[in-house]
Amino acid sequence: MDATFLAKIRSDYPEFSFREGKRFSFRPPKTIIMRSNEENGELLLLHELGHALSGHKTFDTGARRLKMEREAWEKVREIAPKYGVGFDDSLVEVELDTYRDWLDKKTRCKKCGLTCYQTPDGVNHCPRCENFSLKRTLP
Ligand SMILES: [Zn+2]
Ligand SMILES: [Zn+2]
Repeated sequence: MDATFLAKIRSDYPEFSFREGKRFSFRPPKTIIMRSNEENGELLLLHELGHALSGHKTFDTGARRLKMEREAWEKVREIAPKYGVGFDDSLVEVELDTYRDWLDKKTRCKKCGLTCYQTPDGVNHCPRCENFSLKRTLP
């Protein structure tokens, strides 16, 4: 990561603390973990900053998480030109895909592998297994 870039970010956002770590992440409310020797470090740092600026607090389950990731990238699109960082749509797609995969794995039924649906309380339900157990308990 470019040192001038980092210095500029630090001075523009003194309210956040930027720390070196193993992988990029945002620790609400004010800490951004970064890896300065990462190839796409500038964009990834802006992305975590995007979470911070969007006021994301919890990284809970499912579709909401994916929405947060999108939101953070939209922020990057906004602020990247200010730092002379080129916005890379393909990187964004790759990053979002990793969340889609993660989401997909998370939402598969552990018993039968079918994709579950989520009720607003964040609980996953398997249409196959739950119907089956429902039918069995009916008289
Ligand atoms: Zn993110
Ligand atoms: Zn199932």
